[in-house]
Formats: sequence, structure tokens, C-alpha cells
Amino acid sequence: MAFTLPKLNYSFEALEPYIDAQTMELHYSKHHQTYLDKFVAALEKYPQLQDQKVEDMLKDLNSIPEDIRMAVRNMGGGYYNHNIFWANLASESKMSPEVEKALLDSFPSIEEFKKEFETKALSLFGSGWTWLVKNPEGKLEIINTSNQDNPISTSDVKLLLALDVWEHAYYLKYQNRRAEYVANWWNVVNWDHIAQNL
Ligand code: MN
Repeated sequence: MAFTLPKLNYSFEALEPYIDAQTMELHYSKHHQTYLDKFVAALEKYPQLQDQKVEDMLKDLNSIPEDIRMAVRNMGGGYYNHNIFWANLASESKMSPEVEKALLDSFPSIEEFKKEFETKALSLFGSGWTWLVKNPEGKLEIINTSNQDNPISTSDVKLLLALDVWEHAYYLKYQNRRAEYVANWWNVVNWDHIAQNL
């Protein structure tokens, strides 16, 4: 079975005080694990899918048998989105000139980019994700998806940055203060990961 939880490059405590250790542990070993388990269970009947990449399944959901399509979308999406989310985090990371230039090609300033990203995350009703993506024209864009949907299911974009705005990602520490969670999250963004995906 090819699907496993990714190994984290940091400890659960490493992102304190911005993301607390207890949230990290629950998020990774309970929430993410559950998405993975349910995704794997959904594929049980279809051994031919078990060697496929989750990414490829999400890019072409119509090719997935109808009886498990929603499970692959929700659970496979949950599994894949969190893989990206963890890779997007680091206890210490600086924005490289290359990333700064790419952002300034698409946004008036880094401050404006961050403001727009935060506004987008705060405007998301219910549960979902806020993304920075590179569109087919090479421009960077900020988009929201609901639930565990991933932008690659509906458009041909490259994923650069993923923010989990489900309450389970922040509620223990921030309760209803999503704005504070999002503002603090910038302190633990792994800019190197974005550079690799540009
Ligand atoms: Mn989550």
C-alpha cells in the first residue's frame, strides 16, 4: 500500500507559539490519519487504483468509479491537502528573492499579497482551504475551496501554498479568532517549499 502519512520535518512543538503542539498532534495523528484511513478503505474494492497517485485521482475525478468518487474527493482530498499543508510549514524560513519577485509580478506588494490572502481566508464560509496557486498563464492567484476540495480538480494550476481554515486547525488555541490564526500562520510558512514549486 503506497499511501502513508508523510514524515514531518519538525516536531509538534516546533511551530509554537503560532501553532500549538496539541493542535499539531491532533491534527496530524487524528484528523489526517482518519482521512488517510477512509481513503484507503474506499479504494479497497478497486485494487487498480491503489497504485495510482492521489494527485492524479483528484485531477480526474470523473475517471473514479461513481460509488467511491465522493469518498476519493473528500477523503483523498483530505489526505492530499494535509500532505501539502505540512510541507508548507517550517519553524524558520525566509522568503527568497526569487519568491518575492514572483509575488511582486502578480501583486502590488508583499503586504498587499498577505492582506489579500488573509481577506480570502476570512471570507471562506464554513470549512475549507485558501490557496496560492500559479495559473496556466504563469500568474499567481489566491483562491478558496470548500471542504477538502483541491484546486487541481477544476483547473490546471500549480499549488504553491495551502492554508487549512477548518476549525480543527486552530480552534484549541484561537477559538473563533480565525483572523489571529491566519495572521500568525505567516510566521511558520515554509517559503523554501514555495520556491521549489514555482
Ligand atoms: Mn485539517
